[in-house]
Amino acid sequence: MAAVSVTTRFAPSPSGPLHVGHLLAALRARQLADWHGGHCLLRVEDIDVRAQNPAMSELMYEDLSWLGLRFDGAVMVQSRRFAVYADVLERLRRLGVLYPCFCTRTEIKAQLAELGRAPHATLGYQYPGTCRSLSPELAAERIAAGEPHAWRLDMQRVQDMIGCPSWHDLHRGTQRCEPTAFGDVVLARKEFPASYHLCVVVDDAEQGVTHVTRGEDLFEATHIHRALQGVLGLPVPTYCHHGLLRDNAGKRLAKRDGARSIASLRAAGYTPADILQSLNRALEEGGIWRI
Ligand code: GLU
Repeated sequence: MAAVSVTTRFAPSPSGPLHVGHLLAALRARQLADWHGGHCLLRVEDIDVRAQNPAMSELMYEDLSWLGLRFDGAVMVQSRRFAVYADVLERLRRLGVLYPCFCTRTEIKAQLAELGRAPHATLGYQYPGTCRSLSPELAAERIAAGEPHAWRLDMQRVQDMIGCPSWHDLHRGTQRCEPTAFGDVVLARKEFPASYHLCVVVDDAEQGVTHVTRGEDLFEATHIHRALQGVLGLPVPTYCHHGLLRDNAGKRLAKRDGARSIASLRAAGYTPADILQSLNRALEEGGIWRI
């Protein structure tokens, strides 16, 4: 039987310094690739033009090399790929699954409050679909008048096209995608020309990623990614969502916890071996990070 060729990726967003949670994600991707004699790629997810910071990217490369993490092949940098994402957006527009939305954040919050809906824990506010029914003529007029707008994915149309396809999660088994479960997500807006959801799907396909390993906070986002893969006819990777590191109080470690950044641990005199040992200990103790 031919060996399955496995390609994983580590895809950090350098909007803050790399921290121990990133290290866990990187190791999971590297280990899964190594177990199968495959490849582990590095992709820099720096599409948030407001958060772009070359010094932060430099620090990330420095931290990765100090930790001794190695990746295969060329590094993909999302901020160099806006033309690719623009083409995919155009394709989606032609397929009739994108619509312009003129609602401001404040308006959306008011609409949701009126409907008595609360934000989702990890995916935020679920748009109630107000602009979905705007006539194309009126929408075109408002765009021509220079009104700011976002492009949303019409999930009902998506579901009509692809139904509810499945994907496989290594820990949780076969999952059924519910395209409409999280509302019509934004795929682009003026100051944010391509969203995480769009780029991650396009790039996992382009990089030939067969296994997506990432934190369980992104488990729900896979519904959106699977839906996009269906509409765009892209291959569907296997997913593996791992547990997250938490502090003593059980709170998830976040970028703002500067003390757990690799750079600050390095400055405090810890070696890569110390950090790996602490990570292994944390994993044995249910993910509680103690330094
Ligand atoms: N860029 C994301 C992050 O740093 C990870 C996205 C993914 O693995 O799909 O949280």
